[in-house]
Amino acid sequence: MRLCLFDEGRLGLVQGDEVLDVSGAMAALPPFRYPLPTADVLIANLADLRPRIAAAAIAAERRPLSSVRLSSPVMNPGKIVAAPFNYRDGRDLVEHAGRIHAAGLFLKATSSVIGAAQGITLACRDRTTDYEVELAVVIGRICRQVGRDDALSCVAGYTIGLDITLHGPQERSLRKSLDSYTVLGPALVTADELGDPGTLDLGLELNGQPRQRANTRDLVLDVPALIEYASSYYTLHPGDVLLTGSPSGVAALAPGDRIRAWIAGLGELDVAVR
Ligand code: MN
Repeated sequence: MRLCLFDEGRLGLVQGDEVLDVSGAMAALPPFRYPLPTADVLIANLADLRPRIAAAAIAAERRPLSSVRLSSPVMNPGKIVAAPFNYRDGRDLVEHAGRIHAAGLFLKATSSVIGAAQGITLACRDRTTDYEVELAVVIGRICRQVGRDDALSCVAGYTIGLDITLHGPQERSLRKSLDSYTVLGPALVTADELGDPGTLDLGLELNGQPRQRANTRDLVLDVPALIEYASSYYTLHPGDVLLTGSPSGVAALAPGDRIRAWIAGLGELDVAVR
């Protein structure tokens, strides 16, 4: 199943290049009162919602995917966990494994998350800002100290992530958390639909020029290893997003640029920069 959020709060089922409006299925979400759960409620209830989404799709209005305003497919992630130095890129694996273990993981502010339609707004224009295409993993159930063998059972699905990065001496969590500096989409592809996340081609074009190209088999810590590592430090909740790291080929962005990021099986993320 491929699910998107569009036009300020509509739920869509993506079929080919069309979106079926299945927003009615969200009526089955439980009502919430303060304090709200520590999870994205749509992702947390996805298993219950899926038959309702399938039923709503039968008579749903269809619209071209290109005509809707895509939001992030996860609206309320509890945290954005991200990995630095996580592609081999032909360099020595031991060196890279040492680097990610020395650096650990970092967190990005959830307020930085946008969908493709919103576009990236560059800030601190006297400094360089880079793009990074990354496989984004969306956690589907509470997991804590999960082992590698059980890790993929914690995944709700996958999407494409852009980890936008301001250069400078400060902590990553500051430089990567500006408004619009985390782009997710176009859709959440459920784990059963995607299958193995360990052999996916991915890439990024800037203004039509290929800039990044890799395969997730070159991750130093693969998806199960990242879930094992992250969940050994903190509990992961439904809707938490894991950005798995970016391959070489990053370069500076400028206003007017157009980013097209793609991952096999996950579609394309087309984002304007201003
Ligand atoms: Mn990154």
